[in-house]
Parts: sequence; C-alpha cells; structure tokens
Amino acid sequence: MRASLPTAKEMLARLVAFDTTSHKSNIPLIRFVEDYLAGHGVESRRVPTADGDKSSLFATIGLAGAGGIALSGHTDVVPVTGQRWDTDPFTLTERDGKLYGRGSCDMKGYLACALAMVPALKARKLKVPFHLAFSYDEETGCTGVRPMIGEFGKTLPVPRLVFVGEPTAMTVVDAHKGPVRWRAELTGRAAHSSMPHLGVNAIAYAGALIAELARMEAELKAGARDERFDPPWTTLQVTRIDGGIASNIVPASCWFGWEIRGLPGFDPMALDARLRRLALETWLPEMRRVAPEADIRINVTNRVPAFAADTTSEIVPLALQLGGQNATFAVSYCTEAGLFQDGGAPAVVVGPGHIAQAHTPNEFIAVSELEKCLRFLERLADWAEA
Ligand SMILES: [Zn+2]
Repeated sequence: MRASLPTAKEMLARLVAFDTTSHKSNIPLIRFVEDYLAGHGVESRRVPTADGDKSSLFATIGLAGAGGIALSGHTDVVPVTGQRWDTDPFTLTERDGKLYGRGSCDMKGYLACALAMVPALKARKLKVPFHLAFSYDEETGCTGVRPMIGEFGKTLPVPRLVFVGEPTAMTVVDAHKGPVRWRAELTGRAAHSSMPHLGVNAIAYAGALIAELARMEAELKAGARDERFDPPWTTLQVTRIDGGIASNIVPASCWFGWEIRGLPGFDPMALDARLRRLALETWLPEMRRVAPEADIRINVTNRVPAFAADTTSEIVPLALQLGGQNATFAVSYCTEAGLFQDGGAPAVVVGPGHIAQAHTPNEFIAVSELEKCLRFLERLADWAEA
C-alpha cells in the first residue's frame, strides 16, 4: 500500500481551509487531525497551552516506546493581512501544477504528506515506529513546540530521528542560524524642548546604544565566517523603534528592538552583556544625574537556538541516502530543529516546497514537490520496516 498523491492533495485542501494564523486557535485543525488518526486506529496526545486555545499534537504509529522517527511540522501560518492574493488564501486552488493557499508551502504541504502516509504506515510491519509531532506558534518565535519537547523522556518518548519538514525543496539542511531578539526600553524625563537641560532625552540615549550595536554589527561582519551560510557571518540589526510624543517635548520614552542571527556556536550573550554594561554603567548614571527616575531595561524577547546537526547521529547520512543526494545545505532562516536537537532528539530539515514561496501572497507548493516528499517518506518507511 502506498500513500497516494490525491490523498495528500485532498488532505492539504482540508488543512489549508483552517485559518491557523498564529494569533488564532489551531484547535479546529487539531481536532480534525485527531479524528482522522482515530479513524485509522491511531491515538493522539495533545500538549495544550494553559488556556487550551492552542495545542501541539503527538501521535505514534507502530510500537510505542523510546526512539522512533518523528515527522515534525508547525500547524500555524503567517497572516495574509495586507497581501494581495489572486485566490482565496484559505481555499486550496490548483493551477498549472501548483497548489495555491496560505500555508501550502510553509508548511501544511508536509503535514498533508505525513498524514497521507498514515494508512500505508499502519499496513506495514514497522520495526521503528513513526511519530507525528505537530506544533503551533512556530511563526511567532518557535514557542509552541517547546512544551512538547519538554515532555520528551517524561510523558512522551524521545524520538531517535526528527525530520522537520520546513520547505527546503527536499534538499537536506543540516544547519541554520539562531535568532535572538531583544527589546530595550528607555525612560528619561519630559521637558519643554526649549529647555532640554531640564529633561533627559530618551531617544538620544537610545541612539547611543544603537550606535554601539552598529559597532558590534561591523565587528561581526568582519569576524567569524562560515561560507555555507548566506550571508556567511552573524548578522545584527535594529528592527523596531518608537519614541517621543510631540516635536516640542523632550522625549521621556523610547523603545527599540534588535536581533542577532548567529552562526552555530556563536554566543550572543557576550554582546548582550557588553550592551548592558554600557547602558547601566555609563549612560544610566548620566541620565540619573538629571532624573533619578530614569531607567534602561533590556530584555531578551525570543531566542531560538542555532542548529547544527548531530554528527554522531545516523540522521544526516540517512536523509541524504533517502533523498538520493550527496550534499547538505545551511540556511539563514530558523526552524524548530535546534530545539529538538537541544531536547536530545537528533534532527534534520527536509521538506517540500521552496522557502521563496513561503510567507508571500499567492503562496504555493508545486504538486511535484508533494510527490517528491511522498517518495522520500515511502523510502523512510522502507528503512523503518527493514
Ligand atoms: Zn515554517
């Protein structure tokens, strides 16, 4: 028994029809998947949020217990707000060998292939079980998968191999950068702008910190390189800023956000400490000489570990063999792979579709990509049965 392409396409149409934009509940989709799996005699486990509004799903096909192959993907999608679509983003539309819809590429196409495989997997005598590990809130900082990984070795088995199906056009990705995001909030003192010496200009001090970040950026660019990445250095940039309330008032507040996307092995916290030292030991005392209430708060808002595949695990050679390839790739976008790896489950990223089509209006996945993915999963099932 083989997983059929029509089943995968039909499954994708069902998945795309659930609007699982990250800020919305994914429970209707999870319920649909649970019902589908139950129909094939597969039990699912939820790892829900505290309010139950969202949930991960973990299900095992084959013998329960430690190890196993996890097919991992996120159920959430990025918003369509402000994008011009030629078709309804939540109605899968086929045209010229392409399937259009929000999430078709990133990454419900992979989830659809994994689900379409279930009847075929059930019919096999698997020596290594398959797990489905579906998460939420990946697009907002890979936060939803963390509680599920937290259950590994407790209420859930630790997978031996994790295939993260983010769109790589079925090439094998064994490394990605790790983004860290910060927010700095500066509090100064308001004054009439004709009397700046009576106030503390929060924007000006934010500027001083941003200048230091610019120096760090230049150092990073001149520093360690890994030519497998584009660009081959650790990047740093300021991404958000807001401050002040009127053009004739010394601004009492300013906040800004920045991110670092570090190469594997890079320690972003050394730069975190350097910026804090400058803020708290140099600039804050100066601000407080005029306004004792002045403050600078710096917080990490999100951190996803960089990913470099476990070289002692069989996963990368196996993925290359199954895909009929001989070279791996490194990418600059991030995935849940680093989190799985840190959770003790060796991971690799290989999935259908091109990242260039992810997050865009008229997002699509080529039918041929779904076919490639199904063939890959079939060979993986052969391996698990042998
Ligand atoms: Zn994705």
